[in-house]
Amino acid sequence: MAVTIYYEQDCDPSIIQGKKIAVIGYGSQGHAHALNLKDSGCDVRVGLREGSKSIQAAEEAGLKVVDMDTAAEEADLIMMLVPDELQPQVYEEHIAPHLKAGDTLAFAHGFNIHYGYITPPEDVNVIMCAPKGPGHIVRRQYTEGSGVPDLICVQQDATGNAWDIALSYAWGVGGARSGVIKATFKQETEEDLFGEQAVLCGGVVELVKAGFETLVEAGYPPELAYFECYHEMKMIVDLMYESGIHFMNYSISNTAEYGEYYAGPKVINEQSRAAMKEILGRIQDGSFAEEFVNDCKNGHKWLIEQREAINDHEIEKTGEKIRGMFTWIK
Ligand code: NAD
Ligand code: MG
Ligand code: MG
Repeated sequence: MAVTIYYEQDCDPSIIQGKKIAVIGYGSQGHAHALNLKDSGCDVRVGLREGSKSIQAAEEAGLKVVDMDTAAEEADLIMMLVPDELQPQVYEEHIAPHLKAGDTLAFAHGFNIHYGYITPPEDVNVIMCAPKGPGHIVRRQYTEGSGVPDLICVQQDATGNAWDIALSYAWGVGGARSGVIKATFKQETEEDLFGEQAVLCGGVVELVKAGFETLVEAGYPPELAYFECYHEMKMIVDLMYESGIHFMNYSISNTAEYGEYYAGPKVINEQSRAAMKEILGRIQDGSFAEEFVNDCKNGHKWLIEQREAINDHEIEKTGEKIRGMFTWIK
Protein backbone atom coordinates (compact mmCIF):
# COMPACT_ATOMS: atom_id res chain seq x y z
CA MET A 1 0.00 0.00 0.00
CA ALA A 2 1.75 3.15 -1.21
CA VAL A 3 1.45 6.45 0.60
CA THR A 4 1.62 9.91 -0.92
CA ILE A 5 4.13 12.31 0.58
CA TYR A 6 3.57 16.06 0.43
CA TYR A 7 6.18 18.79 0.75
CA GLU A 8 6.22 22.56 1.21
CA GLN A 9 5.35 23.25 -2.44
CA ASP A 10 2.11 21.25 -1.97
CA CYS A 11 0.96 23.46 0.93
CA ASP A 12 -0.75 26.84 0.85
CA PRO A 13 0.69 28.84 3.79
CA SER A 14 -1.97 31.55 3.44
CA ILE A 15 -4.64 29.19 4.80
CA ILE A 16 -3.04 28.72 8.20
CA GLN A 17 -1.68 32.29 8.26
CA GLY A 18 -5.24 33.51 7.77
CA LYS A 19 -6.66 31.62 10.74
CA LYS A 20 -6.90 32.49 14.40
CA ILE A 21 -5.29 29.50 16.08
CA ALA A 22 -5.74 28.31 19.66
CA VAL A 23 -3.18 25.84 20.99
CA ILE A 24 -4.70 24.25 24.09
CA GLY A 25 -1.92 23.11 26.46
CA TYR A 26 1.75 24.00 26.58
CA GLY A 27 3.56 20.73 27.20
CA SER A 28 5.80 18.70 24.92
CA GLN A 29 3.75 19.18 21.74
CA GLY A 30 1.98 22.40 22.79
CA HIS A 31 5.08 24.55 23.10
CA ALA A 32 6.45 23.23 19.80
CA HIS A 33 3.25 23.81 17.80
CA ALA A 34 2.63 27.26 19.31
CA LEU A 35 6.18 28.53 18.79
CA ASN A 36 6.63 27.04 15.32
CA LEU A 37 3.28 28.43 14.13
CA LYS A 38 4.12 31.86 15.54
CA ASP A 39 7.51 31.83 13.80
CA SER A 40 5.68 30.81 10.60
CA GLY A 41 3.72 34.06 10.75
CA CYS A 42 0.49 32.68 12.25
CA ASP A 43 -1.88 34.29 14.73
CA VAL A 44 -1.49 32.03 17.78
CA ARG A 45 -2.89 32.16 21.28
CA VAL A 46 -2.17 29.51 23.91
CA GLY A 47 -5.14 28.43 26.02
CA LEU A 48 -4.23 27.46 29.59
CA ARG A 49 -5.92 26.85 32.92
CA GLU A 50 -5.91 29.56 35.53
CA GLY A 51 -2.85 29.03 37.73
CA SER A 52 -1.14 26.77 35.18
CA LYS A 53 2.61 26.49 35.61
CA SER A 54 2.99 26.90 31.85
CA ILE A 55 1.59 30.46 31.71
CA GLN A 56 4.88 32.08 32.63
CA ALA A 57 6.91 29.90 30.24
CA ALA A 58 4.59 30.63 27.32
CA GLU A 59 4.56 34.37 28.01
CA GLU A 60 8.34 34.48 28.38
CA ALA A 61 8.60 32.78 24.99
CA GLY A 62 6.65 35.73 23.56
CA LEU A 63 3.28 33.99 23.15
CA LYS A 64 -0.15 35.39 23.86
CA VAL A 65 -1.77 33.42 26.70
CA VAL A 66 -5.48 33.40 27.51
CA ASP A 67 -7.79 31.03 29.38
CA MET A 68 -9.05 28.00 27.46
CA ASP A 69 -12.58 29.35 26.94
CA THR A 70 -11.31 32.64 25.53
CA ALA A 71 -8.87 30.78 23.27
CA ALA A 72 -11.63 28.56 21.90
CA GLU A 73 -14.01 31.50 21.53
CA GLU A 74 -11.49 33.64 19.61
CA ALA A 75 -10.11 30.90 17.41
CA ASP A 76 -11.33 29.26 14.24
CA LEU A 77 -8.76 26.47 14.52
CA ILE A 78 -8.32 24.77 17.89
CA MET A 79 -5.45 22.33 18.41
CA MET A 80 -5.97 20.02 21.42
CA LEU A 81 -2.62 19.42 23.11
CA VAL A 82 -3.51 18.54 26.67
CA PRO A 83 -2.85 14.91 27.72
CA ASP A 84 -5.14 12.47 25.89
CA GLU A 85 -6.88 11.31 29.08
CA LEU A 86 -7.84 14.90 30.02
CA GLN A 87 -9.05 15.92 26.57
CA PRO A 88 -12.68 14.72 26.86
CA GLN A 89 -13.29 16.83 29.98
CA VAL A 90 -11.39 19.87 28.67
CA TYR A 91 -13.34 19.56 25.42
CA GLU A 92 -16.77 19.35 27.09
CA GLU A 93 -16.15 22.19 29.54
CA HIS A 94 -14.02 24.68 27.63
CA ILE A 95 -14.04 23.96 23.89
CA ALA A 96 -17.40 22.56 22.78
CA PRO A 97 -19.44 25.55 24.06
CA HIS A 98 -17.48 27.87 21.74
CA LEU A 99 -17.39 25.82 18.51
CA LYS A 100 -18.96 27.57 15.53
CA ALA A 101 -19.95 26.05 12.19
CA GLY A 102 -16.89 25.93 9.93
CA ASP A 103 -14.36 25.87 12.79
CA THR A 104 -11.59 23.30 12.73
CA LEU A 105 -10.84 21.04 15.68
CA ALA A 106 -7.35 19.56 15.45
CA PHE A 107 -5.49 16.79 17.25
CA ALA A 108 -1.93 15.45 17.33
CA HIS A 109 -3.09 11.91 18.10
CA GLY A 110 -6.34 10.18 17.17
CA PHE A 111 -7.14 8.46 20.48
CA ASN A 112 -10.22 10.42 21.57
CA ILE A 113 -11.82 10.73 18.13
CA HIS A 114 -11.12 7.16 17.06
CA TYR A 115 -12.38 5.54 20.27
CA GLY A 116 -15.34 7.94 20.51
CA TYR A 117 -14.43 9.74 23.74
CA ILE A 118 -14.93 13.06 21.89
CA THR A 119 -17.74 13.52 19.35
CA PRO A 120 -17.59 16.96 17.72
CA PRO A 121 -20.63 18.47 15.99
CA GLU A 122 -21.00 17.66 12.28
CA ASP A 123 -20.50 21.24 11.11
CA VAL A 124 -16.85 21.50 12.24
CA ASN A 125 -13.77 20.05 10.56
CA VAL A 126 -11.94 17.36 12.51
CA ILE A 127 -8.33 17.03 11.45
CA MET A 128 -5.06 15.70 12.75
CA CYS A 129 -1.50 16.86 12.36
CA ALA A 130 0.68 14.39 14.26
CA PRO A 131 4.41 15.03 14.27
CA LYS A 132 6.25 11.72 14.29
CA GLY A 133 8.63 12.74 17.07
CA PRO A 134 8.73 14.20 20.58
CA GLY A 135 7.73 17.86 20.93
CA HIS A 136 11.18 19.05 21.88
CA ILE A 137 12.61 17.65 18.65
CA VAL A 138 9.72 19.23 16.71
CA ARG A 139 10.78 22.62 18.05
CA ARG A 140 14.54 22.06 17.76
CA GLN A 141 14.38 20.89 14.14
CA TYR A 142 12.20 23.83 13.19
CA THR A 143 14.67 26.34 14.66
CA GLU A 144 17.47 24.54 12.80
CA GLY A 145 15.61 24.98 9.49
CA SER A 146 14.38 21.39 9.25
CA GLY A 147 11.23 19.65 10.47
CA VAL A 148 9.85 16.43 11.95
CA PRO A 149 7.58 14.62 9.43
CA ASP A 150 3.84 14.76 10.15
CA LEU A 151 0.92 12.46 9.57
CA ILE A 152 -2.20 14.39 8.55
CA CYS A 153 -5.72 12.98 8.71
CA VAL A 154 -9.24 14.23 8.18
CA GLN A 155 -12.13 12.64 10.06
CA GLN A 156 -14.76 15.25 9.16
CA ASP A 157 -14.60 17.66 6.24
CA ALA A 158 -17.33 20.20 6.97
CA THR A 159 -15.91 23.05 4.88
CA GLY A 160 -14.72 21.02 1.88
CA ASN A 161 -11.08 22.09 2.31
CA ALA A 162 -10.13 20.24 5.50
CA TRP A 163 -7.20 18.47 3.76
CA ASP A 164 -5.81 21.82 2.60
CA ILE A 165 -6.12 23.17 6.13
CA ALA A 166 -4.29 20.12 7.52
CA LEU A 167 -1.52 20.48 4.91
CA SER A 168 -1.20 24.16 5.66
CA TYR A 169 -1.01 23.45 9.41
CA ALA A 170 1.75 20.91 8.73
CA TRP A 171 3.58 23.64 6.79
CA GLY A 172 3.20 25.95 9.81
CA VAL A 173 4.75 23.52 12.30
CA GLY A 174 7.59 22.71 9.90
CA GLY A 175 6.62 19.13 9.05
CA ALA A 176 6.27 19.84 5.32
CA ARG A 177 9.99 20.66 5.20
CA SER A 178 10.71 16.94 5.48
CA GLY A 179 7.44 15.34 4.38
CA VAL A 180 3.78 14.98 5.25
CA ILE A 181 1.94 11.68 4.90
CA LYS A 182 -1.83 11.32 4.53
CA ALA A 183 -3.41 8.73 6.84
CA THR A 184 -6.68 8.05 8.67
CA PHE A 185 -7.48 8.55 12.36
CA LYS A 186 -7.81 4.77 12.70
CA GLN A 187 -4.39 4.10 11.14
CA GLU A 188 -2.60 6.78 13.14
CA THR A 189 -4.18 5.80 16.45
CA GLU A 190 -3.69 2.05 16.16
CA GLU A 191 -0.20 2.20 14.65
CA ASP A 192 1.00 4.82 17.12
CA LEU A 193 -0.24 2.81 20.11
CA PHE A 194 1.18 -0.42 18.72
CA GLY A 195 4.58 1.12 17.94
CA GLU A 196 4.99 2.68 21.37
CA GLN A 197 3.78 -0.43 23.19
CA ALA A 198 5.42 -3.28 21.30
CA VAL A 199 8.60 -1.67 20.00
CA LEU A 200 9.60 1.88 20.90
CA CYS A 201 8.83 2.19 24.59
CA GLY A 202 7.52 -1.13 25.90
CA GLY A 203 9.70 -3.31 23.70
CA VAL A 204 12.95 -1.37 24.05
CA VAL A 205 12.79 -0.80 27.80
CA GLU A 206 11.95 -4.43 28.52
CA LEU A 207 14.64 -5.72 26.12
CA VAL A 208 17.32 -3.53 27.69
CA LYS A 209 16.18 -4.48 31.20
CA ALA A 210 16.10 -8.22 30.43
CA GLY A 211 19.61 -8.10 28.94
CA PHE A 212 20.94 -6.14 31.91
CA GLU A 213 19.31 -8.49 34.44
CA THR A 214 20.61 -11.59 32.65
CA LEU A 215 24.21 -10.35 32.89
CA VAL A 216 23.93 -9.06 36.46
CA GLU A 217 22.25 -12.27 37.70
CA ALA A 218 25.12 -14.20 36.12
CA GLY A 219 27.55 -12.19 38.26
CA TYR A 220 28.80 -9.56 35.78
CA PRO A 221 29.35 -6.01 37.10
CA PRO A 222 26.25 -3.84 36.61
CA GLU A 223 28.37 -1.02 35.15
CA LEU A 224 29.58 -3.27 32.33
CA ALA A 225 26.10 -4.72 31.82
CA TYR A 226 24.81 -1.16 31.52
CA PHE A 227 27.38 -0.32 28.85
CA GLU A 228 26.70 -3.43 26.77
CA CYS A 229 22.91 -3.52 26.96
CA TYR A 230 21.88 0.11 27.38
CA HIS A 231 24.54 2.70 26.59
CA GLU A 232 25.47 1.23 23.20
CA MET A 233 21.83 1.00 22.11
CA LYS A 234 21.78 4.60 20.91
CA MET A 235 24.85 4.21 18.71
CA ILE A 236 23.46 1.11 17.00
CA VAL A 237 20.02 2.67 16.53
CA ASP A 238 21.59 5.90 15.20
CA LEU A 239 23.37 3.91 12.49
CA MET A 240 20.11 2.17 11.52
CA TYR A 241 18.26 5.50 11.54
CA GLU A 242 20.85 7.33 9.47
CA SER A 243 21.83 4.70 6.91
CA GLY A 244 19.83 1.50 7.28
CA ILE A 245 20.27 -1.91 8.86
CA HIS A 246 22.77 -2.88 6.13
CA PHE A 247 25.03 0.02 7.07
CA MET A 248 24.79 -0.79 10.78
CA ASN A 249 25.76 -4.37 9.87
CA TYR A 250 28.66 -3.07 7.78
CA SER A 251 29.85 -0.93 10.68
CA ILE A 252 29.79 -3.66 13.34
CA SER A 253 32.18 -6.64 13.38
CA ASN A 254 31.42 -9.88 11.55
CA THR A 255 31.24 -11.52 14.97
CA ALA A 256 28.50 -9.10 16.02
CA GLU A 257 26.65 -9.51 12.73
CA TYR A 258 26.79 -13.33 12.97
CA GLY A 259 25.46 -13.11 16.53
CA GLU A 260 22.68 -10.80 15.41
CA TYR A 261 21.29 -13.34 12.92
CA TYR A 262 21.81 -16.25 15.31
CA ALA A 263 20.42 -14.76 18.53
CA GLY A 264 17.86 -12.15 17.40
CA PRO A 265 15.17 -14.64 16.31
CA LYS A 266 15.68 -16.64 19.52
CA VAL A 267 14.93 -13.57 21.66
CA ILE A 268 12.15 -12.16 19.48
CA ASN A 269 10.63 -15.55 18.74
CA GLU A 270 7.23 -17.00 17.83
CA GLN A 271 6.01 -16.35 21.37
CA SER A 272 7.04 -12.67 21.14
CA ARG A 273 5.27 -12.36 17.78
CA ALA A 274 2.14 -13.94 19.22
CA ALA A 275 2.29 -11.41 22.07
CA MET A 276 2.57 -8.59 19.51
CA LYS A 277 -0.52 -9.87 17.69
CA GLU A 278 -2.43 -9.98 20.95
CA ILE A 279 -1.33 -6.42 21.80
CA LEU A 280 -2.49 -5.23 18.37
CA GLY A 281 -5.83 -7.02 18.88
CA ARG A 282 -6.42 -5.22 22.19
CA ILE A 283 -5.66 -1.90 20.48
CA GLN A 284 -8.00 -2.65 17.56
CA ASP A 285 -10.95 -3.81 19.65
CA GLY A 286 -10.70 -0.86 22.08
CA SER A 287 -9.91 -2.92 25.19
CA PHE A 288 -6.52 -1.23 25.67
CA ALA A 289 -8.18 2.20 25.46
CA GLU A 290 -10.80 1.18 28.01
CA GLU A 291 -8.20 -0.19 30.42
CA PHE A 292 -6.08 2.98 30.13
CA VAL A 293 -9.06 5.29 30.63
CA ASN A 294 -10.16 3.29 33.70
CA ASP A 295 -6.70 3.58 35.25
CA CYS A 296 -6.78 7.36 34.62
CA LYS A 297 -10.13 7.54 36.43
CA ASN A 298 -8.47 5.61 39.26
CA GLY A 299 -5.83 8.34 39.66
CA HIS A 300 -3.30 6.48 37.44
CA LYS A 301 -2.78 3.90 40.22
CA TRP A 302 -1.31 1.17 38.00
CA LEU A 303 0.69 3.60 35.87
CA ILE A 304 2.29 5.21 38.93
CA GLU A 305 3.15 1.82 40.49
CA GLN A 306 4.95 0.79 37.31
CA ARG A 307 6.74 4.14 37.04
CA GLU A 308 8.00 3.85 40.61
CA ALA A 309 9.19 0.28 40.00
CA ILE A 310 11.35 1.21 37.03
CA ASN A 311 12.66 4.35 38.77
CA ASP A 312 13.85 2.12 41.65
CA HIS A 313 15.40 -0.52 39.38
CA GLU A 314 19.13 -1.13 39.63
CA ILE A 315 19.52 -0.29 35.93
CA GLU A 316 18.42 3.30 36.57
CA LYS A 317 20.75 3.75 39.53
CA THR A 318 23.65 2.34 37.50
CA GLY A 319 22.76 4.60 34.59
CA GLU A 320 22.68 7.71 36.74
CA LYS A 321 26.18 6.97 38.03
CA ILE A 322 27.55 6.25 34.57
CA ARG A 323 25.92 9.19 32.84
CA GLY A 324 27.47 11.40 35.52
CA MET A 325 30.90 10.35 34.19
CA PHE A 326 30.14 11.75 30.75
CA THR A 327 30.18 15.50 30.53
CA TRP A 328 28.68 15.41 27.02
CA ILE A 329 25.46 13.73 28.20
CA LYS A 330 23.33 16.42 29.82
P1 NAD B 1 2.06 16.98 27.91
O1 NAD B 1 1.72 16.09 29.05
O2 NAD B 1 3.49 17.22 27.59
O3 NAD B 1 1.45 18.43 28.10
C1 NAD B 1 0.15 18.65 28.41
C2 NAD B 1 -0.10 20.11 28.74
O4 NAD B 1 -1.48 20.23 28.97
C3 NAD B 1 0.54 20.60 30.02
O5 NAD B 1 1.84 21.08 29.83
C4 NAD B 1 -0.41 21.71 30.41
O6 NAD B 1 -0.10 22.89 29.70
C5 NAD B 1 -1.73 21.19 29.95
N1 NAD B 1 -2.53 20.56 31.02
C6 NAD B 1 -2.11 19.62 31.90
N2 NAD B 1 -3.13 19.28 32.72
C7 NAD B 1 -4.19 20.02 32.34
C8 NAD B 1 -5.53 20.14 32.81
N3 NAD B 1 -5.99 19.42 33.83
N4 NAD B 1 -6.35 20.99 32.16
C9 NAD B 1 -5.90 21.71 31.13
N5 NAD B 1 -4.64 21.66 30.66
C10 NAD B 1 -3.80 20.82 31.26
O7 NAD B 1 1.26 16.41 26.63
P2 NAD B 1 1.87 15.99 25.22
O8 NAD B 1 2.77 14.80 25.39
O9 NAD B 1 2.38 17.20 24.53
O10 NAD B 1 0.57 15.44 24.49
C11 NAD B 1 -0.38 16.31 23.88
C12 NAD B 1 -0.98 15.57 22.68
O11 NAD B 1 0.02 15.36 21.70
C13 NAD B 1 -1.56 14.21 23.00
O12 NAD B 1 -2.69 14.01 22.19
C14 NAD B 1 -0.45 13.25 22.57
O13 NAD B 1 -0.88 11.95 22.24
C15 NAD B 1 0.06 13.97 21.35
N6 NAD B 1 1.44 13.64 20.94
C16 NAD B 1 2.45 13.78 21.83
C17 NAD B 1 3.76 13.53 21.43
C18 NAD B 1 4.90 13.81 22.37
O14 NAD B 1 6.01 13.95 21.88
N7 NAD B 1 4.75 13.93 23.67
C19 NAD B 1 4.02 13.12 20.12
C20 NAD B 1 2.96 13.01 19.20
C21 NAD B 1 1.66 13.29 19.64
MG1 MG C 1 1.67 8.04 21.16
MG1 MG D 1 30.41 -5.25 21.81
